[in-house]
Amino acid sequence: MSETFHAMWRSLRPIGRSAASGGYRRYAWTEADADCRLWFRMQAEARRLDVETDRNGNQWAWLGDPTAGDAVVTGSHLDSVPDGGAFDGPLGVVSAFAALDELRARGAVFKRPLAIVNFGDEEGARFGLACVGSRLTAGRLTKEQAYELRDADGISLPQAMEAAGHDPATIGADPERLAKIGAFVELHVEQGRALDLSGDAVGLASAIWPHGRWRYDFAGEANHAGTTRLVDRRDPMLTYAETVLAARREAELAGAVATFGKIAVEPNGVNAIPSLVRGWLDARAADQGSLDQVIAGVEAAARDYAGRHGIDLAVTRESFTPVVDFSDTLRDELAKILGEKTGEKTPVLGTGAGHDAGILSESIPTAMLFVRNPTGVSHSPAEFAAEDDCVAGVLALADVLEGLACR
Ligand SMILES: [Zn+2]
Repeated sequence: MSETFHAMWRSLRPIGRSAASGGYRRYAWTEADADCRLWFRMQAEARRLDVETDRNGNQWAWLGDPTAGDAVVTGSHLDSVPDGGAFDGPLGVVSAFAALDELRARGAVFKRPLAIVNFGDEEGARFGLACVGSRLTAGRLTKEQAYELRDADGISLPQAMEAAGHDPATIGADPERLAKIGAFVELHVEQGRALDLSGDAVGLASAIWPHGRWRYDFAGEANHAGTTRLVDRRDPMLTYAETVLAARREAELAGAVATFGKIAVEPNGVNAIPSLVRGWLDARAADQGSLDQVIAGVEAAARDYAGRHGIDLAVTRESFTPVVDFSDTLRDELAKILGEKTGEKTPVLGTGAGHDAGILSESIPTAMLFVRNPTGVSHSPAEFAAEDDCVAGVLALADVLEGLACR
């Protein structure tokens, strides 16, 4: 099995890889995306699986009758963030095919249909919204909303789909498809160091942390950087800087994470005191209470600083996703299957990152397996998982699929 895993990894590695950065640029409905889709089709056909692309552009490779119902589905995504790593997404798809190889080598007999899925446009790198393929399927993004999405060049999602040979007219909720799925298990490289710290190769997901984005508009007064006395200034950059520090402090207090990662400045001149600083706060926490504490704490601090500097502050919540709990029943079942195989307890951990499994968890029972990431680095060319851990992930996924679909 580790042979086929490596062969797949090698064949997928060059697709959409930037020679300059060493990172991946596999954006939805681009040439690199088409190459990834062709790769998926070839892997599926080499295993005599029936391949289909659904109305929303997700690819499915079936073993058994897709209409029979109660299917066990595994997989992930092949697209990437700008200059993303090799593992986020692809590890789940490659491991799915490798797990099937392992089960066939074991002589497993499937009693439920099995599908391997490649969800389209998970990262949202091109159109700015994550998990478009699964959102559409689950009815959490309407056709009308999807038609409004545009990339940086002004190309709309339907235009991009059409250019890539996919008919956008039929996108939208697909409850019939979801009704035929009994369980979805997504394997994913961990995007943190919890498994590295606990010393485990593989873990199970408990929940996706509630998270959101807030826009902070600090408005002051533009003026000359050389001639305006310090005491006469209304400089929003000062308030912004203090707010960044407050976010760090509040996150530490709550055991959460908070980040100002994007900023826009007007007039954005080297020799000008800014008239406006706009900063985006991304905050995530294990539970709603902790997140509320961070958000309230940061805003209170920002208003205090703003008052002292004569700055007008407006805070707008731009997006919010409440906590996503994966199915307890399915997780307990997976823990039992893995426990029987290994005799060890599989650690259960939360995550601050969003996934297709999270989107689908409201519609069908979903679970996630995480594979150790020794540095915790993700969404970067430096993202990494050790060979042994990848193999451990495949075997855990094979055990889980066998337990769910073969007995
Ligand atoms: Zn991912």
